[in-house]
Amino acid sequence: MTQAVEQTAPAVDIPMVIELRDVRKAFDAGSSRTVALQDVTFDVGRREFISFLGPSGCGKSTLLSLIAGLAGDFDGTIRVNGRTPAEARLGREYGMVFQEPALLEWRRVRENVLLPLEVMGMGTTQDRRRVADEMLALVGLRGFERHYPWQLSGGMQQRVSIARALVFEPQLLLMDEPFGALDEILRDRMDLELLRISEASETTVLFVTHSIAEAVFLSHRVLVMSGRPGTLVADVEIDLGSHRTTATREDPRFHQLVTEVRRSLHAGHESRES
Ligand code: ADP
Repeated sequence: MTQAVEQTAPAVDIPMVIELRDVRKAFDAGSSRTVALQDVTFDVGRREFISFLGPSGCGKSTLLSLIAGLAGDFDGTIRVNGRTPAEARLGREYGMVFQEPALLEWRRVRENVLLPLEVMGMGTTQDRRRVADEMLALVGLRGFERHYPWQLSGGMQQRVSIARALVFEPQLLLMDEPFGALDEILRDRMDLELLRISEASETTVLFVTHSIAEAVFLSHRVLVMSGRPGTLVADVEIDLGSHRTTATREDPRFHQLVTEVRRSLHAGHESRES
């Protein structure tokens, strides 16, 4: 149980968390073959917040699944902290959050969060509870440990799923449209919360979204993908400083960056269509 309670510094600091080189992924179904991704090459540094934007079906989810070691065979190279995705998965180096919180309705909030520790047989009951409660406090849900998921709003349920993803204190958080089902006001609030949580938990975040404004607001870099087969068409650095607030969305630079990303997105789409 010490992993989630006491942090020991790594012997060697590896600045690069993720490295992809010439990644290509195809799916075979009977006689047909879909090339979902090709020539995907990029690096992600420790504690970077990276968003992926691209048209539906361009391979964003496939990309996260590959990095998570959940999408089977592929060509090229992927390294997560210098290891293969399968090794990183076994080492519980990442947590995942999806659009649907996928909570167990019959378990209380705390029991949902500690479930991964229970499944792995880690720690005593008391240890597991303590870690779950720490993570719930981190996502702003102190006092809701004994509620059931159906007693919470959509945004609160998604916070529970973030707490559950953080329970092994992973260095890497993979998020696939986590706030896609929330209304815009709530989504804006969750974006601010996520920045606070990722800073406090010192995680590197890979974030898939359909919202250009959300990607720009959250990220250090936005990686723009073309239509299928998905490849990277732009890597836009978001120079909005490290402290983002509600006022950031009104900053003229924010609007310039939104325009820049939108243009890259359309250029990538058009080049695939022509
Ligand atoms: P996105 O997340 O950008 O919407 P996906 O990664 O879900 O895109 O899908 C990329 C492409 O790969 C799509 O054409 C999709 O139909 C195909 N695909 C994804 N998963 C599978 C699978 N398990 N079997 C066959 N094709 C798949």
